[in-house]
Amino acid sequence: MKYYSTNKNAPIADLHKAVVKGLAEDRGLYMPEQIKMLPQSFFDHIQDMSFQELSYVVADAFFGEDVEKEALKQIVYDTLSFETPVVQVDERIYSLELFHGPTLAFKDVGARFMARLLQYFIRQEGNEQVNVLVATSGDTGSAVANGFLGVDGIHVYVLYPKGKVSKIQESQFTTLGKNITAIEVDGVFDDCQALVKSAFMDEELNKHMKLTSANSINVARFLPQAFYYFNAYAQMKKLGKADQLVMCVPSGNFGNITAALFGHQMGLPIKRFIAANNANDIFYNYLQTGIYDPKPSKQTLANAMDVGNPSNFARIYDLYGGSHEKVTSLISGATYSDDQIRETLLSCYQQTGYILDPHGTCGYRALQEGLQEGEYGVFCETAHPAKFKETVDSITHGDVEIPERLAAFMRGKKESVPMSKDFNDFKAFLLSK
Ligand SMILES: *Cc1c(COP(=O)(O)O)cnc(C)c1O
Repeated sequence: MKYYSTNKNAPIADLHKAVVKGLAEDRGLYMPEQIKMLPQSFFDHIQDMSFQELSYVVADAFFGEDVEKEALKQIVYDTLSFETPVVQVDERIYSLELFHGPTLAFKDVGARFMARLLQYFIRQEGNEQVNVLVATSGDTGSAVANGFLGVDGIHVYVLYPKGKVSKIQESQFTTLGKNITAIEVDGVFDDCQALVKSAFMDEELNKHMKLTSANSINVARFLPQAFYYFNAYAQMKKLGKADQLVMCVPSGNFGNITAALFGHQMGLPIKRFIAANNANDIFYNYLQTGIYDPKPSKQTLANAMDVGNPSNFARIYDLYGGSHEKVTSLISGATYSDDQIRETLLSCYQQTGYILDPHGTCGYRALQEGLQEGEYGVFCETAHPAKFKETVDSITHGDVEIPERLAAFMRGKKESVPMSKDFNDFKAFLLSK
């Protein structure tokens, strides 16, 4: 499969290059030249297939030309070592729990898949070590670190702002050891990102070591998220409730919903989609007006969706040939304030007993408000509520149980490298490796 840039001004890339580079030369996002339709027979029997089995079919459509069959199967099976169950919350609303992976957030699948795919390419090339640099404000770092943990041939450096991430988040990437190094930067998230960007542009450093990124725009991270939607459909079909299915995705950078839309292009019979936003309403406004007007992000309770310029907008725009009409005929939007998130999280808990996290709450409410006669709705519950324990407990006046997996991270010993925000210090550190 070949990949082109959404800016249409960069050379066509193969999968290997698209994965290693992440972003095209013209700063555009890579798109596969083809999205294959899956045969009707697949959808006829999808409800009888396991998560791993059906995901392999989807993965084969994207990556089958570039990765050997057995290797791809192993990558898929290794990535999906947990279930993403659909759980009924209301009469017609279901939660797709994407938080049963290693760090209890949906980004685990993409991170692990990318790690395995990168490892496959490194092995083919003859084992030169690759170094992944990732800047994080919290959640991405933990998903990437755990996805790459123990994958030989790859070393990961996670840069995070000192004192700006929660203890739970910090423990998920500073206690791992092995091939993961946490770097505690005396600055804010933007400083971390600037250090990573400078490193990629520094000639001397790039001669010294092979550097790559693992951010969410990478095709190997976002495309595997399509698996979720095929699996959700399969489960709803099993329940006999898949005929008029509405998928609602709490969105920030819009990678997850873009993967869902790719699934739709492959024939997945979802009737329509809802992109649920917090107060960062850039996409919502685009749907209303046809004008895409990025803004600085606003801090909200659902902070993993605090994005003022969603990077995957370019992919959605490209997917529908820039037609606002096509986009709005398939996707609607919703936007919620922190007060509305609090109100909905509490009322859902009181009325159903289901404890939402602040991100999933946006999805749940959008279905409550937007579901039409005869439709069933599935929203993505993108993180376990315990990851946002303080917020959730303060709203419900409850005490969310911390899953053992999370508790184990918190018992681990923190190890990190202190770093100034001066690039010369960071460069000297990497050159010493
Ligand atoms: C990353 C994230 C989101 C947003 O996903 P996008 O693919 O960026 O739209 C939503 N919820 C949680 C918990 C996340 O970590």
